[in-house]
Amino acid sequence: MPDVMSQQEDEKRLIQRAYRQLLRTIKNPDEQDSVNIRNAYELAVKAHSEQRRKSGEPYILHPIEVARICAEELGLGPTAVVCALLHDVVEDTNVTLTELENTFGERITRIVDGLTKLDSSYNAESPQAENFKKVLSTLVEDVRVVLIKMADRLHNMRTLGSMPRHKQLKIAAETSYIYAPLAHRLGLYAVKTEFQDLCMKITDPEPYFEIAKKLQETKKERERYINEFIKPVSKQLDDFNIPYEIFGRPKSIYSIWNKIKTKQVPFEEIYDLFAVRIILDVEKSREKSICWQVYSVVTDVYKPIPERLKDWVTTPKSNGYESLHTTVIGPGGQFVEVQIRTVRMNEIAERGFAAHWKYKGLSDGPDVYEVWLDGVRDLLDNSNSDALEFLSDFKTNLFNEEVYVYTPKGDMKMLPKGATALDFAFSIHTDIGYHCTAVKVNNRQVPLGYKLKNGDQISVQTSKNQKPNESWLKLVVTGKARSKVRSAMKEERRRQGILGKEALERKFRNMKVDFDFSVEALVKHYNYASHVDLYYDLATDEVQIGDLLKPFQASNNRLVLIPPKKEEDPPQEEKPPSDRAARKRQKAHKPKLLVGGEPADNYSYSFASCCNPVQGDSIFAFLTMNSGLKIHRSNCPNATHLMANYGYRIMKAEWGGTTNTTFVADLKITGIDAGPGMIQRLSHEISTNLGLNIRAFNIGGDAGYFEGRISLLVQNTDQLNQVIRTLKNLDNVSTVSRID
Ligand code: MN
Repeated sequence: MPDVMSQQEDEKRLIQRAYRQLLRTIKNPDEQDSVNIRNAYELAVKAHSEQRRKSGEPYILHPIEVARICAEELGLGPTAVVCALLHDVVEDTNVTLTELENTFGERITRIVDGLTKLDSSYNAESPQAENFKKVLSTLVEDVRVVLIKMADRLHNMRTLGSMPRHKQLKIAAETSYIYAPLAHRLGLYAVKTEFQDLCMKITDPEPYFEIAKKLQETKKERERYINEFIKPVSKQLDDFNIPYEIFGRPKSIYSIWNKIKTKQVPFEEIYDLFAVRIILDVEKSREKSICWQVYSVVTDVYKPIPERLKDWVTTPKSNGYESLHTTVIGPGGQFVEVQIRTVRMNEIAERGFAAHWKYKGLSDGPDVYEVWLDGVRDLLDNSNSDALEFLSDFKTNLFNEEVYVYTPKGDMKMLPKGATALDFAFSIHTDIGYHCTAVKVNNRQVPLGYKLKNGDQISVQTSKNQKPNESWLKLVVTGKARSKVRSAMKEERRRQGILGKEALERKFRNMKVDFDFSVEALVKHYNYASHVDLYYDLATDEVQIGDLLKPFQASNNRLVLIPPKKEEDPPQEEKPPSDRAARKRQKAHKPKLLVGGEPADNYSYSFASCCNPVQGDSIFAFLTMNSGLKIHRSNCPNATHLMANYGYRIMKAEWGGTTNTTFVADLKITGIDAGPGMIQRLSHEISTNLGLNIRAFNIGGDAGYFEGRISLLVQNTDQLNQVIRTLKNLDNVSTVSRID
């Protein structure tokens, strides 16, 4: 069949073209590198030959593109290119790690292993968290793992269009929950910005495309302004005899959107849609003085706003960022941010960690990434097996900025921002933490939960009689301290629980039932998280053995449930009648909803109160532990967390047609206070003119300004948008927005 033949030929050419393009991005590989790259390419082509991406393209284009991103966009070397080409072969094909090791050696194999997801049969509460923990434990050995992972994620995000909507949402959630902050922490600014924009495009497409369109429309005008701004500055910079670049850079769509939301102003009123950047090509020793000379030139031409001066040249940010920022008043009185930096600083600002190697040894002071990696190592060493807990510790500890404090001897210690006096004690030594009784900061006694500030000098008092208690969990934030307190509490419960266990042993011996089997039956029946918890409750008289055993009887050496008598009501009818009636009422008016393509009535479901979805909103379903399915809005504030950690419990949900059901929607309204008539005018508009029911109405404000919250019942998003438009057009109303 000639058609199939020619299609195969076309694809072959496509693959070869992509590969040649990749080769062009690799700078001076040595002979061994070239052989490895060729071998990796050939092996990957063969291994993936039967696979296609969701878009229908040959799968191999994905690893080739990931390799290109590594080389061209992240500036990584040949080893990373080889690993990127191989990153999916172990996971998706029958190539084994042993085969890789024979061809490519141990180092490359270890990196590929780090990039391979855990076996899907691996049983875990959150497979996503487990996989992330795995990536991080390899990261501390070889940072390239995480950089290649970023490139992989970037390509997947760029090509998400062919995925079904619920998958897109899940991947976007994971990206904004973990990968974007990680990119930020590693100083991969360009990657972070692109992640944020791509996520927004999926979760909030309407504002995304609106801002993109407006940016496009105002482009010419902006370019004209930037040229006018740059001209007099360039003139002076030319006299310096230093190679430089000066240009305007648009801000990201996501950051513009954030401004619109936080400042509650329309696009047209946002002045910093762009920043002007000056990049200077000078040697390391003159960097600081040249940056300041250029600052002086800029501020000779334009008047600066002193509060906006930020000097990250003298003290870099903790993620390595270096730059000198100022905001000046440009032509026409417009505020313009100017960023002054050198070529080296620019590369670090754009590529962070990835550029770090190139300049290693050039900067003085502690290596910011080494300090951070030590933190990751510490957390991995100290975390228990629960990956979800690890992930949350990781987020609080390692994505945050740090505080620097001192021991009585003047040694500096770095802790995450928000860390407490008790965290400090644990950071010195576990035993000092365990036995900590009091803490002095700058010679004054403070509570154990005192939040550390930069420059604090801290001394800890201990007593051997002191030991951790439950309330300490609220006083510590660092992963190390938390896991130490948790394990101390566990040990304490286990110790106290021995009495409970002994009581059960006696009882079961009398009943002549097998101990292990019977305990298991109790733990299961009463939903205990562990045996220890059951013993502990018994030991502390929280529950009585007699009560626990009431529904059970002994049979064949085993503890079994007494079967329910036929005449009695079935147990599920235990709900109070009012609740049942309410549910019945609701059922009669249930909206048409499809979950996973089936009518939602096949499941027990309800609408999440955190985001109150309205018919027409983009939604998804989440399978909860105890209360069936919950329907959330795709942009619900909790969605990111749910999808990133429990992606496997997310189901696709969609509206299956219109009904007369009403939904709760909450609006926030702000405006100029026009006296007591405002409430009446608003409610008149809503109930009389639009004919809608108001459930709740709160209004407040002072000094000529008001802010109100209205809870309404609407049938769908069209109706809701109509309300928003109508209210916006009222006199004295400035903003109307739905509460997320
Ligand atoms: Mn991949």
